[in-house]
Amino acid sequence: MSKFFNQKLNTLVPYTPGEQPKEQEYIKLNTNECAYAPSEKVLQAVEKAAVSVNLYPDPACDALCEKMARIAGMDKQQIIFTNGSDEILNFIFTAFCENGAVFPDITYGFYPVFARLNGVKYREIPLTQDLRINPEEYKNVGKTIFIANPNAPTGIALKREELESIIRANPDNLVVIDEAYADFSGESARELVNIYDNLIVCGTFSKSRSAAGIRLGFAFACKELISDLNTIRFSTNPYNINSLSMAAGLAILEDEAYTAENVKKTVRTRERVKELLKKEGFYCTDSKANFLFVKSDKISGEALYRGLKQRGILIRHFSLERIREYNRISIGTDAQMDILIKTIKEMVERK
Ligand SMILES: *Cc1c(COP(=O)(O)O)cnc(C)c1O
Repeated sequence: MSKFFNQKLNTLVPYTPGEQPKEQEYIKLNTNECAYAPSEKVLQAVEKAAVSVNLYPDPACDALCEKMARIAGMDKQQIIFTNGSDEILNFIFTAFCENGAVFPDITYGFYPVFARLNGVKYREIPLTQDLRINPEEYKNVGKTIFIANPNAPTGIALKREELESIIRANPDNLVVIDEAYADFSGESARELVNIYDNLIVCGTFSKSRSAAGIRLGFAFACKELISDLNTIRFSTNPYNINSLSMAAGLAILEDEAYTAENVKKTVRTRERVKELLKKEGFYCTDSKANFLFVKSDKISGEALYRGLKQRGILIRHFSLERIREYNRISIGTDAQMDILIKTIKEMVERK
């Protein structure tokens, strides 16, 4: 650390992204990317947009907002696009957390990092013994509430009624629902932004839309909240969405059938792999996302992670005490998952 680094930030521990190794070809099941490549239409759109990268992109991001508004049945002033949904989360911590924040003790690892970066005090509410969010504990908390739904890395989802009960019980606090994985659960709370002015629902193109590399995220809320978020955006980087991402994003939204098909395949594979893992003695949470969260009495969480890595398969292990026996396994193609199952069988049976 240099002597110039801001004293207030000298204890900041940055977020650790999942490994993106270069030294060898792994079967990558560690960062919940989509297993399927983007469609041909997306590639063509990017190529077409590339000829005008000498110009700045549209800072209003009009075409994307309009398209998304039509899909979601909203006004375009109820939508904002950001450089990944990580950016919208950061903006929310900057804009709306003067009174502090709450989120589960086990959830997306970026929430506490953004809280510290923005000088926001936060409290972590423990998940129940079986790793669920108890909605009752999120009522009248007096702080901005962050809930990933489905939650990460457990994959467990709250029902829409449970979310709505939290939103209703906190009329003077903001509730942020992070729907990074909602396409896989098939249930979104986004229409609720038309009813509640204390709700922000965010989403991303990284998980279900085959586009983690273009860094495109978005949020829905009432016009006033979106306007505040645009104040932060225009005070940070009005050109946060580059022209190539904009073109790719638009092409993705114009081909929703392609996304739907990939989501369907992913969910089918998830359920198949879950049954196979159960047969090998694994416990799996009721994941509604594009990953499984699993543990076994036959092998420790750490040993499974290390053993698979040695054998060319990357999964995600977290060292947090409560979940150290678990691993999060992204759902890949059927062929990739068959190799995973075969390898796990060999490892577990050899012991
Ligand atoms: C992956 C993820 C995000 C961030 O996605 P971006 O790639 O930044 O759009 C946000 N929240 C959760 C819960 C995630 O798992």
